[in-house]
Amino acid sequence: MKYPVYEVKIEKLEKKYVNDCLNTSWIGQGAYVKNLEIEFSKYVGCKYGISTTSGTTALHLACRTLGIRNGDEVLISSSTNMASAFAVIYCGAIPIPVDINSDTWQMDVSKIESKISKKTKAIMPVHLFGQSVDMDPIIFLAKKYNLKIIEDCAEAIGVLYKKRKIGSIGHISAFSFFANKTITCGEGGMVVTNDKRLALKAYELKNLCYGKKNRFLHSDIGFNYRLPNISAAIALGQLRRIDSIIEKKKRIYQRYFNNLKNIKNIKIPIIGSHTTRFIMWVFNISLINERNDSNFLIKKLKSYSIESRPAFAPINKQPWYKKKYFNFFKKNNCHNANEVMLKGLYLPSGSTLNNSQIDFICEKVINILK
Ligand SMILES: *Cc1c(COP(=O)(O)O)cnc(C)c1O
Repeated sequence: MKYPVYEVKIEKLEKKYVNDCLNTSWIGQGAYVKNLEIEFSKYVGCKYGISTTSGTTALHLACRTLGIRNGDEVLISSSTNMASAFAVIYCGAIPIPVDINSDTWQMDVSKIESKISKKTKAIMPVHLFGQSVDMDPIIFLAKKYNLKIIEDCAEAIGVLYKKRKIGSIGHISAFSFFANKTITCGEGGMVVTNDKRLALKAYELKNLCYGKKNRFLHSDIGFNYRLPNISAAIALGQLRRIDSIIEKKKRIYQRYFNNLKNIKNIKIPIIGSHTTRFIMWVFNISLINERNDSNFLIKKLKSYSIESRPAFAPINKQPWYKKKYFNFFKKNNCHNANEVMLKGLYLPSGSTLNNSQIDFICEKVINILK
């Protein structure tokens, strides 16, 4: 028996839509792309959706659309997938890491204001692991200092902050449909916004900025970030049955949580009270024992064919960050994110896991840590 860290199930509906693309030969841009944009943006509470080829390109498109450019600074959760920071760097701007809260592992919003400088252009909260960042203080600071908010929602499809849907709170937001995200088409992404001007700009930029009168006199330097119809068909099938996917993830979280909540060498991140709908992305734990870092457990689990992954290495730990942005690195060492990198890991979390598999994994974790 193998326990992959993530596994995806493609059902009849996705297959039907893909076959429709193949049978009609609409494999480039077609109706599934439009329908995915309409239904997904509605699902996350936004008026406009602009599909892209990945979460990374969605983040880049979002930053470019807002006009992030050379020399600007963008404040980001230190602990994240580096795509968040890369998107900023692609625009010539500088990512400034903000430490995370050691209980929830989300951006510590009390540490943002002291990092705002004359060059700060935007804040990028990353809603990690299916929780939401505490957005009200960010909205307050954005107003006070005239900053933009880019939400990285790659791990938080369907999540609620108080009564609001994640992705609809900032000026512009990015989602991912990578293979291990809540809904997937292998590779894909989406920019969403409620601002019509931003939506039009994003749409132009992602589609090579073709000219309006003469198509080949381009209005700006654009990108080709177009999601193919076949991929959109898979994502649309997934979206239309997202409730059943979320139900499975809920069961998996509960099972892990109940099995591991009283184990004394393990800490499970706490879900912040402002996250009114939590949707587990992956199941995280961190090791309390001083002696052991997460690699020790990862290696031992591997001997039982259980795959796991270490927690994110934060922005301030990246060798290229130290080298390229040394002055920023010196000022921005993030203690809690560093600690999570050392002690944190996640266990197999795909929606195909059944309860006895979870029990087996937990039993091994408990025995190894005894
Ligand atoms: C997955 C992820 C991304 C990148 O998405 P891709 O589709 O893999 O490019 C960006 N940010 C976060 C927080 C992610 O989890």
